[in-house]
Amino acid sequence: MDDCVFCKIINGDIPSTTIYEDDDIKAFFDISQVTPGHTLVVPKKHVKDIFAYDEDLAERVFKKIPMIARAIKASNPKIIGMNICQNNGEIAYQSVMHSHIHLVPRYSKDDDFSMHWGDN
Ligand code: 5GP
Repeated sequence: MDDCVFCKIINGDIPSTTIYEDDDIKAFFDISQVTPGHTLVVPKKHVKDIFAYDEDLAERVFKKIPMIARAIKASNPKIIGMNICQNNGEIAYQSVMHSHIHLVPRYSKDDDFSMHWGDN
């Protein structure tokens, strides 16, 4: 979609720090890091939210989440946990209307980091 920021990132029209990419998904750092390593996993197909996935796309996207989570965790021994979250719809705080999954690494005593969705 022409006016979709994540489609532009997937197409390379907007730069991103990409940590993984294949035919189905692109995983890149969120521009506003809730904690260091905060990553978005985004299907290359433009789907608005969870309600728009068919079974095949859901399998191809979601089965890769554990692999990406393990890779993020392996990148930093200080990561001891991870929040994985997907917002669907404005009422659920979805701000980019191209489906994505947040992977937010957690660190000991990381309450020092801003943990509020949407903080810049
Ligand atoms: P949502 O609020 O829809 O669950 O999450 C959207 C996320 O996309 C936000 O955390 C926001 O920081 C991130 N975001 C918005 N625009 C960009 C961008 O241009 N580049 C990157 N890397 N992340 C973005």
